[in-house]
Amino acid sequence: MSCPICKKETDRTYRPFCSRRCADIDLGNWFAGDYAVPSQNPDEALEALEALENGASDPSKPH
Ligand SMILES: [Zn+2]
Repeated sequence: MSCPICKKETDRTYRPFCSRRCADIDLGNWFAGDYAVPSQNPDEALEALEALENGASDPSKPH
């Protein structure tokens, strides 16, 4: 099985991805779908994810 993001060999820790980075990219793609980002470029998806994290309210803030 290969990573759906970069096609490298899957790491069992992060399956079906090869790394935390690719898992984050996939999550970014998932969010990006809501925002209709036209690009399938993983790097741009990662940037979108980082933008979401930067723009989000403090995640450590207790409920
Ligand atoms: Zn990967």
